[in-house]
Amino acid sequence: MASSTQIRDFVARFAALIDAHAVELTELDSAIGDADHGTNMQRGAQAALERVEAMEGATPAELLKAVAMALISKVGGASGPLYGTAFLRAAAAADGKATLGDGDLAAVFAAMLTGLQERGHAIAGEKTMIDAFEPAVHALQGGKSLREAYDAARAGSDATIPMLAKKGRASYLGERSRGHRDPGSASTVLLFQAAAEHLADG
Ligand code: ADP
Ligand code: MG
Repeated sequence: MASSTQIRDFVARFAALIDAHAVELTELDSAIGDADHGTNMQRGAQAALERVEAMEGATPAELLKAVAMALISKVGGASGPLYGTAFLRAAAAADGKATLGDGDLAAVFAAMLTGLQERGHAIAGEKTMIDAFEPAVHALQGGKSLREAYDAARAGSDATIPMLAKKGRASYLGERSRGHRDPGSASTVLLFQAAAEHLADG
């Protein structure tokens, strides 16, 4: 269940987790990208947090849209428009609801995945954030909890390590992309961790 308060807490936790893992995210991106994923996400998540904190009385959809706009304007790189699109779709899926129940949350995360895929055209197995996002959404759609979705995202991110990158900067490395975790899959794990901690019942 998620009210506006819980969505604000989720954004705050996501920003804190990104901060705590920023060096690690950038190290992952330095192995197979351009070493900016941690700083990109830190800038975006901080801006998102500042915006939602200033939106007293806003609905879940309004908060999610503000997160989207912050990510689109501040993150840059591939991940900014991707996560931004995902949060725009989340806002659309949450529209008109004062609180989001478990079924609503599954629909919100499924809409985010659809947005990621329509924007980035990646499918599972191409060593991107989709490899963490999709199994988490499948878990929710199968009636599993957000905690189980988080576990599925972690396993999905682990599975990117041996993969050959087919999308994004890492794909330029060809075979040399193998043996490294995809950085975007790692930030997606943090998103589901924040969701499991703040949007789940009980
Ligand atoms: P950039 O690659 O522009 O430097 P970031 O470093 O912030 O951007 O983000 C890189 C991450 O973006 C990758 O680790 C990958 O998970 C994700 N990514 C890149 N291209 C795609 C895509 N087409 N679809 C889904 N995710 C992608
Ligand atoms: Mg990068």
